[in-house]
Amino acid sequence: MSMDTTQAEMRRSFEQYFRQNRLPHLWCPGCGNGTALKCIAEAIEGMEGFSQDNTVIVSGIGCSSRGSGYMDFDTVHTAHGRAIPFATGIKLARPELNVIVITGDGDCTAIGGNHFLHGCRRNVDLTVILFNNNIYGMTGGQSSPTTPPGKMTATAPYGTIDRPLDACRIAEAAGATYVARSTAFHVKHLTQMIAGGLKNHGFALIEAMVQCPTAYGRKNKMGSPAAMLTWMKDSSVMKAAWDKLPPEKRTPEKFPIGLLYECAGEEYGMANAEIQRRAGGL
Ligand code: SF4
Repeated sequence: MSMDTTQAEMRRSFEQYFRQNRLPHLWCPGCGNGTALKCIAEAIEGMEGFSQDNTVIVSGIGCSSRGSGYMDFDTVHTAHGRAIPFATGIKLARPELNVIVITGDGDCTAIGGNHFLHGCRRNVDLTVILFNNNIYGMTGGQSSPTTPPGKMTATAPYGTIDRPLDACRIAEAAGATYVARSTAFHVKHLTQMIAGGLKNHGFALIEAMVQCPTAYGRKNKMGSPAAMLTWMKDSSVMKAAWDKLPPEKRTPEKFPIGLLYECAGEEYGMANAEIQRRAGGL
Protein backbone atom coordinates (compact mmCIF):
# COMPACT_ATOMS: atom_id res chain seq x y z
CA MET A 1 0.00 0.00 0.00
CA SER A 2 1.19 3.52 -0.72
CA MET A 3 1.59 5.90 2.21
CA ASP A 4 -1.56 7.76 1.14
CA THR A 5 -3.59 4.54 1.03
CA THR A 6 -2.24 3.46 4.40
CA GLN A 7 -3.18 6.75 5.98
CA ALA A 8 -6.65 6.63 4.42
CA GLU A 9 -7.14 3.09 5.77
CA MET A 10 -6.00 4.17 9.22
CA ARG A 11 -8.41 7.09 9.19
CA ARG A 12 -11.32 4.84 8.21
CA SER A 13 -10.56 2.22 10.85
CA PHE A 14 -9.56 4.82 13.47
CA GLU A 15 -6.62 2.60 14.33
CA GLN A 16 -4.38 5.64 14.87
CA TYR A 17 -6.40 6.22 18.06
CA PHE A 18 -5.59 2.79 19.48
CA ARG A 19 -2.38 1.45 20.99
CA GLN A 20 -1.47 -1.29 18.58
CA ASN A 21 0.85 -2.95 21.10
CA ARG A 22 -2.14 -3.45 23.46
CA LEU A 23 -4.18 -5.30 20.85
CA PRO A 24 -5.86 -7.71 20.48
CA HIS A 25 -8.17 -6.59 23.26
CA LEU A 26 -9.43 -8.89 26.01
CA TRP A 27 -13.13 -8.40 25.36
CA CYS A 28 -15.28 -11.40 24.43
CA PRO A 29 -16.31 -11.93 20.80
CA GLY A 30 -19.49 -9.94 20.14
CA CYS A 31 -19.06 -7.59 23.12
CA GLY A 32 -20.45 -4.10 22.52
CA ASN A 33 -17.59 -2.31 24.26
CA GLY A 34 -15.47 -2.13 21.11
CA THR A 35 -18.29 -0.52 19.15
CA ALA A 36 -18.71 2.18 21.78
CA LEU A 37 -14.95 2.75 21.90
CA LYS A 38 -14.85 3.29 18.16
CA CYS A 39 -17.72 5.79 18.49
CA ILE A 40 -15.65 7.72 21.04
CA ALA A 41 -12.67 7.80 18.65
CA GLU A 42 -14.86 8.99 15.78
CA ALA A 43 -16.50 11.68 17.93
CA ILE A 44 -13.10 12.96 19.06
CA GLU A 45 -11.83 13.01 15.49
CA GLY A 46 -14.72 15.27 14.49
CA MET A 47 -14.12 17.76 17.31
CA GLU A 48 -12.29 20.94 16.56
CA GLY A 49 -9.49 21.50 19.07
CA PHE A 50 -9.32 17.88 20.24
CA SER A 51 -6.13 15.93 19.65
CA GLN A 52 -4.40 12.91 21.14
CA ASP A 53 -2.07 15.33 22.94
CA ASN A 54 -4.71 17.44 24.68
CA THR A 55 -7.30 14.80 25.54
CA VAL A 56 -7.16 12.61 28.64
CA ILE A 57 -9.21 9.45 29.07
CA VAL A 58 -9.85 8.25 32.61
CA SER A 59 -11.53 4.99 33.57
CA GLY A 60 -12.44 3.00 36.66
CA ILE A 61 -12.59 -0.78 36.91
CA GLY A 62 -14.58 -3.29 34.90
CA CYS A 63 -14.77 -4.61 31.34
CA SER A 64 -15.53 -1.23 29.79
CA SER A 65 -12.91 0.54 31.88
CA ARG A 66 -10.22 -1.45 30.10
CA GLY A 67 -11.01 0.82 27.16
CA SER A 68 -8.70 3.57 28.39
CA GLY A 69 -5.71 1.25 28.08
CA TYR A 70 -6.46 0.54 24.44
CA MET A 71 -6.78 4.19 23.42
CA ASP A 72 -3.68 6.10 22.35
CA PHE A 73 -4.25 9.24 24.42
CA ASP A 74 -2.98 10.24 27.82
CA THR A 75 -4.94 7.72 29.88
CA VAL A 76 -5.43 6.86 33.53
CA HIS A 77 -6.90 3.53 34.66
CA THR A 78 -7.93 4.27 38.22
CA ALA A 79 -9.57 2.54 41.18
CA HIS A 80 -13.05 1.05 41.15
CA GLY A 81 -15.70 3.78 41.09
CA ARG A 82 -13.13 6.58 41.33
CA ALA A 83 -12.76 7.70 37.71
CA ILE A 84 -14.84 10.86 38.19
CA PRO A 85 -12.80 12.20 41.15
CA PHE A 86 -9.53 11.49 39.31
CA ALA A 87 -10.91 13.21 36.20
CA THR A 88 -12.11 16.16 38.30
CA GLY A 89 -8.62 16.63 39.69
CA ILE A 90 -7.07 16.51 36.22
CA LYS A 91 -9.57 19.03 34.86
CA LEU A 92 -9.08 21.45 37.76
CA ALA A 93 -5.28 21.23 37.56
CA ARG A 94 -5.12 21.45 33.76
CA PRO A 95 -8.33 23.13 32.53
CA GLU A 96 -7.00 23.38 28.99
CA LEU A 97 -7.21 19.58 28.63
CA ASN A 98 -10.29 17.73 27.36
CA VAL A 99 -11.16 15.09 29.94
CA ILE A 100 -13.28 12.04 29.14
CA VAL A 101 -14.37 9.31 31.54
CA ILE A 102 -15.14 5.75 30.47
CA THR A 103 -17.08 3.84 33.10
CA GLY A 104 -19.50 0.94 33.45
CA ASP A 105 -22.87 0.60 35.14
CA GLY A 106 -21.39 -1.05 38.22
CA ASP A 107 -18.39 1.28 38.37
CA CYS A 108 -20.44 4.48 37.93
CA THR A 109 -23.73 3.80 39.69
CA ALA A 110 -22.75 1.34 42.45
CA ILE A 111 -19.32 1.81 44.04
CA GLY A 112 -18.87 5.15 42.28
CA GLY A 113 -22.46 6.29 42.74
CA ASN A 114 -21.64 8.99 45.26
CA HIS A 115 -18.88 10.42 43.07
CA PHE A 116 -21.29 10.36 40.13
CA LEU A 117 -23.84 12.46 42.04
CA HIS A 118 -21.29 15.03 43.12
CA GLY A 119 -19.66 15.25 39.71
CA CYS A 120 -23.09 16.06 38.28
CA ARG A 121 -23.98 18.66 40.89
CA ARG A 122 -20.62 20.42 40.56
CA ASN A 123 -21.01 20.54 36.79
CA VAL A 124 -17.33 19.84 36.21
CA ASP A 125 -16.41 20.01 32.52
CA LEU A 126 -16.17 16.25 31.97
CA THR A 127 -17.67 13.94 29.36
CA VAL A 128 -18.68 10.72 31.10
CA ILE A 129 -19.50 7.81 28.82
CA LEU A 130 -21.29 5.12 30.77
CA PHE A 131 -21.16 1.72 29.07
CA ASN A 132 -24.32 0.08 30.40
CA ASN A 133 -24.43 -3.68 29.84
CA ASN A 134 -26.91 -4.22 32.72
CA ILE A 135 -24.58 -6.52 34.66
CA TYR A 136 -21.13 -6.93 36.22
CA GLY A 137 -19.39 -8.66 33.32
CA MET A 138 -15.78 -8.88 34.44
CA THR A 139 -16.45 -10.41 37.83
CA GLY A 140 -18.83 -13.13 36.67
CA GLY A 141 -22.27 -11.70 36.00
CA GLN A 142 -23.56 -10.33 39.29
CA SER A 143 -26.56 -7.96 39.37
CA SER A 144 -25.67 -4.31 38.87
CA PRO A 145 -27.83 -1.30 39.79
CA THR A 146 -29.11 -1.18 36.21
CA THR A 147 -30.13 -4.84 35.87
CA PRO A 148 -33.79 -4.79 34.81
CA PRO A 149 -36.35 -6.50 37.07
CA GLY A 150 -36.74 -10.22 36.61
CA LYS A 151 -33.43 -10.72 34.81
CA MET A 152 -31.15 -13.60 35.79
CA THR A 153 -27.70 -12.92 37.17
CA ALA A 154 -25.12 -14.83 39.20
CA THR A 155 -26.46 -13.19 42.35
CA ALA A 156 -30.14 -13.44 41.33
CA PRO A 157 -30.54 -16.94 39.87
CA TYR A 158 -34.34 -16.69 40.15
CA GLY A 159 -34.55 -13.14 38.79
CA THR A 160 -33.65 -9.70 40.08
CA ILE A 161 -36.14 -8.08 42.43
CA ASP A 162 -34.26 -4.80 42.94
CA ARG A 163 -35.68 -1.86 41.01
CA PRO A 164 -33.12 -0.56 38.53
CA LEU A 165 -31.51 2.87 38.55
CA ASP A 166 -31.96 5.14 35.55
CA ALA A 167 -28.55 6.83 35.33
CA CYS A 168 -29.80 9.50 32.91
CA ARG A 169 -32.64 10.62 35.17
CA ILE A 170 -30.27 10.65 38.13
CA ALA A 171 -27.75 12.77 36.21
CA GLU A 172 -30.45 15.26 35.27
CA ALA A 173 -31.77 15.47 38.84
CA ALA A 174 -28.26 15.82 40.27
CA GLY A 175 -27.28 18.76 38.07
CA ALA A 176 -25.60 17.48 34.88
CA THR A 177 -25.95 19.92 32.00
CA TYR A 178 -26.01 17.39 29.12
CA VAL A 179 -27.65 13.97 29.32
CA ALA A 180 -28.03 11.60 26.38
CA ARG A 181 -28.48 7.91 25.67
CA SER A 182 -27.85 5.70 22.67
CA THR A 183 -26.94 2.10 21.93
CA ALA A 184 -24.28 -0.01 20.25
CA PHE A 185 -26.84 -0.71 17.51
CA HIS A 186 -27.19 3.01 16.67
CA VAL A 187 -23.53 3.61 15.83
CA LYS A 188 -23.89 6.98 14.07
CA HIS A 189 -26.37 8.19 16.64
CA LEU A 190 -24.15 7.15 19.53
CA THR A 191 -21.22 9.01 17.92
CA GLN A 192 -23.40 12.14 17.62
CA MET A 193 -24.53 11.90 21.24
CA ILE A 194 -20.89 11.61 22.39
CA ALA A 195 -19.90 14.57 20.19
CA GLY A 196 -22.66 16.63 21.82
CA GLY A 197 -21.24 15.75 25.22
CA LEU A 198 -17.72 16.73 24.15
CA LYS A 199 -19.02 20.12 23.04
CA ASN A 200 -20.87 20.73 26.32
CA HIS A 201 -18.97 22.97 28.76
CA GLY A 202 -19.96 21.18 31.92
CA PHE A 203 -20.80 17.68 33.14
CA ALA A 204 -22.08 15.51 30.31
CA LEU A 205 -23.39 11.98 30.70
CA ILE A 206 -23.83 9.76 27.68
CA GLU A 207 -25.26 6.35 28.49
CA ALA A 208 -24.17 3.87 25.84
CA MET A 209 -26.23 0.69 26.02
CA VAL A 210 -23.85 -2.14 25.07
CA GLN A 211 -24.42 -5.86 24.76
CA CYS A 212 -22.68 -8.33 27.03
CA PRO A 213 -23.35 -11.69 25.39
CA THR A 214 -21.15 -13.64 27.81
CA ALA A 215 -22.75 -12.71 31.13
CA TYR A 216 -26.06 -10.89 30.60
CA GLY A 217 -27.04 -12.42 27.27
CA ARG A 218 -26.13 -15.99 28.18
CA LYS A 219 -27.83 -15.94 31.58
CA ASN A 220 -31.00 -14.49 30.06
CA LYS A 221 -31.03 -16.61 26.90
CA MET A 222 -30.92 -13.55 24.67
CA GLY A 223 -29.18 -15.35 21.81
CA SER A 224 -26.27 -14.21 19.72
CA PRO A 225 -24.63 -10.77 19.86
CA ALA A 226 -26.59 -9.93 16.69
CA ALA A 227 -29.84 -10.91 18.44
CA MET A 228 -28.89 -8.66 21.36
CA LEU A 229 -28.34 -5.77 18.96
CA THR A 230 -31.78 -6.43 17.49
CA TRP A 231 -33.16 -6.37 21.04
CA MET A 232 -31.60 -2.91 21.52
CA LYS A 233 -33.06 -1.69 18.25
CA ASP A 234 -36.52 -2.95 19.19
CA SER A 235 -36.37 -1.67 22.79
CA SER A 236 -35.19 1.87 22.10
CA VAL A 237 -37.47 4.73 21.14
CA MET A 238 -36.25 8.09 19.84
CA LYS A 239 -36.89 10.85 22.38
CA ALA A 240 -39.38 12.74 20.22
CA ALA A 241 -41.50 9.58 19.78
CA TRP A 242 -41.05 8.61 23.45
CA ASP A 243 -42.46 11.95 24.58
CA LYS A 244 -45.66 11.22 22.66
CA LEU A 245 -46.12 7.72 24.07
CA PRO A 246 -48.99 7.31 26.55
CA PRO A 247 -47.77 6.18 30.02
CA GLU A 248 -49.07 2.63 29.56
CA LYS A 249 -46.78 2.18 26.53
CA ARG A 250 -43.68 3.29 28.44
CA THR A 251 -43.05 -0.22 29.68
CA PRO A 252 -39.87 -1.27 31.57
CA GLU A 253 -38.68 -3.08 28.43
CA LYS A 254 -38.54 0.20 26.47
CA PHE A 255 -36.21 3.16 26.92
CA PRO A 256 -35.78 6.54 25.23
CA ILE A 257 -32.63 7.41 23.29
CA GLY A 258 -31.36 10.77 22.09
CA LEU A 259 -30.58 14.03 23.84
CA LEU A 260 -32.68 13.64 26.96
CA TYR A 261 -31.78 16.83 28.80
CA GLU A 262 -29.66 19.93 28.31
CA CYS A 263 -29.37 23.16 30.28
CA ALA A 264 -26.97 25.98 31.02
CA GLY A 265 -25.04 26.04 34.28
CA GLU A 266 -21.88 27.51 35.74
CA GLU A 267 -18.95 25.20 35.17
CA TYR A 268 -17.09 24.19 38.33
CA GLY A 269 -13.57 24.99 37.10
CA MET A 270 -14.62 28.52 36.12
CA ALA A 271 -16.19 29.05 39.54
CA ASN A 272 -13.07 27.66 41.19
CA ALA A 273 -10.83 30.00 39.17
CA GLU A 274 -12.90 32.93 40.35
CA ILE A 275 -12.49 31.83 43.97
CA GLN A 276 -8.72 31.58 43.43
CA ARG A 277 -8.69 35.08 41.97
CA ARG A 278 -10.58 36.41 44.99
CA ALA A 279 -8.16 34.61 47.29
CA GLY A 280 -5.24 36.33 45.64
CA GLY A 281 -4.06 33.67 43.22
CA LEU A 282 -3.56 30.83 45.68
FE1 SF4 B 1 -17.96 -7.77 27.15
FE2 SF4 B 1 -19.50 -9.12 28.86
FE3 SF4 B 1 -17.26 -10.23 27.92
FE4 SF4 B 1 -17.15 -8.20 29.65
S1 SF4 B 1 -17.98 -10.27 30.05
S2 SF4 B 1 -15.91 -8.44 27.79
S3 SF4 B 1 -18.90 -6.95 29.02
S4 SF4 B 1 -19.08 -9.67 26.71
